[in-house]
Amino acid sequence: MHELKITQNVVATISKRAKGAKVQRVLLEIGKLSGIMPEAVRYCFDVCSQGTVAEGAILAIQEIPGLARCSKCGAEIPLDKPLGVCEECGSVELVMIRGQDLKVKEIEMG
Ligand SMILES: [Zn+2]
Repeated sequence: MHELKITQNVVATISKRAKGAKVQRVLLEIGKLSGIMPEAVRYCFDVCSQGTVAEGAILAIQEIPGLARCSKCGAEIPLDKPLGVCEECGSVELVMIRGQDLKVKEIEMG
């Protein structure tokens, strides 16, 4: 499962940043074009965080809408999946400029 590996990386990042302190809350940003399912990450987080500083932490997930730029006409097009067509010129040559990443945005320690 794709999300399990990703969540393991997220927990490793949190542990590194927390430097041994107990983590109360984590805010993750998940881009809509990343192909990562927020609910799957939430599920994996409970498993992956066991025995780490992130165990029992509240996981908040903010979804980031996708945005692409047309490489033909330069128009910026909102996208909710990694494929699309330019609304201005009909080109499929779109370059994703936002919404492809997963980021650990904030960590609150107690
Ligand atoms: Zn275009």
